[in-house]
Amino acid sequence: MAQPKIVILGGGFSGLFTALDLAGTGEVTLVSDEDHFLFTPMLYEYLSGEVEEWHIAPKYSELLEENVNFLKDEVEKVDLTSQSVSLKNYPDTLNYDVLVLAVGGITNYVGVEGAEENTIPFRKIAHADRLRKLMVSALDGLPPDTPPQDVRNALTFAVVGAGASGCELSTKMADLLLDACKRRALHGEPRVLVIEMGDRVVPGMGDQIREFVEDALRQSHVEVHTLTRVISVKSDGVIFEHNGKREELKTSGVVWTGGVKMRPLLDQLDAEKTPKGLLVIRPTLQLSKSDNAFALGDIAVYPDASPTLAGTAQLAFQQASLASQNVKALLNGKELRSKHFEELGEAISLGTERAAVLTGGKAFGGAIARQARFALYTSRLPTWHHRLRVGASWFFEGTTPRPLLPLGFER
Ligand SMILES: Cc1cc2nc3c(=O)[nH]c(=O)nc-3n(C[C@H](O)[C@H](O)[C@H](O)COP(=O)(O)OP(=O)(O)OC[C@H]3O[C@@H](n4cnc5c(N)ncnc54)[C@H](O)[C@@H]3O)c2cc1C
Repeated sequence: MAQPKIVILGGGFSGLFTALDLAGTGEVTLVSDEDHFLFTPMLYEYLSGEVEEWHIAPKYSELLEENVNFLKDEVEKVDLTSQSVSLKNYPDTLNYDVLVLAVGGITNYVGVEGAEENTIPFRKIAHADRLRKLMVSALDGLPPDTPPQDVRNALTFAVVGAGASGCELSTKMADLLLDACKRRALHGEPRVLVIEMGDRVVPGMGDQIREFVEDALRQSHVEVHTLTRVISVKSDGVIFEHNGKREELKTSGVVWTGGVKMRPLLDQLDAEKTPKGLLVIRPTLQLSKSDNAFALGDIAVYPDASPTLAGTAQLAFQQASLASQNVKALLNGKELRSKHFEELGEAISLGTERAAVLTGGKAFGGAIARQARFALYTSRLPTWHHRLRVGASWFFEGTTPRPLLPLGFER
């Protein structure tokens, strides 16, 4: 009998881990528009050089064995009726018996004028590379005798959004820039701002962890601007509003961590969606009206999960195991399962020296939390082989940040 065709779209936390669990079950094909997985929780450490690209962005060719076909291509259309997928470059349509939709979200600029054109998003290796280069070139433009005020102006960077991502990023940037100023014997300090519409930082996290975050923002000299709305972004600055007053700030760079929205690919999908465009799924992860199509991760609203898990790798990772179990059950004519998903804890990187971790209801911070976070994330990387290689590298070669060196010395 012909092997059932299982097609998985997207190779992030939900797609890759589902593919790894399903390897050898029928003919499994994973499609992704990138040639590598990305362990996003450590993209900040990649920016600061605490980790290397190969640690957090291993190629699929290293992770997948021969029992999973990998296609690097962009999915252009999914037809649930004819059970087929069209790709941008691959000439044939892919037909499936079972489909797993796991394409994740994209940066949401919430209609702010100039934001898409003039800010750097922070979701990919390429974004971190661009941001690092921007900081290096701002530093390279400063001779050692530059007056402190000019140093401050030239090293003004804004991060939009003070969720976990904005706080992790701004503390890393501030620590890196501060360290570079000292190494280059510059007088004065950089200025890193985090701009947040809400009334507090890390709004989705509990008070215990927030205390550590606020303390780290202070220690890294990050300026926090809450209740402040970004009105527009220009090539050399940002205009924001606080208490009804508008202000324009000249910047050397603005990073946008202001939210996530659904991909245009999902617009054409004939499936039930929420008003925000997320896919409606059953507790078995099946689309509400298609038994042989599953959706998980950032693109779907799971009916039985702790609300703080929405849009997290934690949820996508846990769902992948349920998805693979249910795909197997469907193919074997067995009953599909559902599961309640709880938060496993929180871990947040804070600058280059510290982190904060919440586990078992208790939060702790500092250098020990940084080590704990590295240990925790080693265990969450894909495949035993990769985990062992990375764990050994972190243990023996260390995780010291790489300073922002002049352009010719950067690698
Ligand atoms: C910088 C950053 C830090 C984060 N830190 C944390 C954290 O500490 N803890 C946490 O729980 N969560 C964190 N998250 C959130 C987490 O990354 C997401 O919730 C998680 O990645 C969602 O998994 P997913 O599989 O749904 O989507 P993704 O991981 O985004 O994967 C989607 C995949 O689909 C591919 N794809 C998309 N469109 C197409 C197409 N048309 N054709 C082919 N391939 C396509 C993409 O290239 C990608 O490989 C972070 C996110 C970011 C950006």
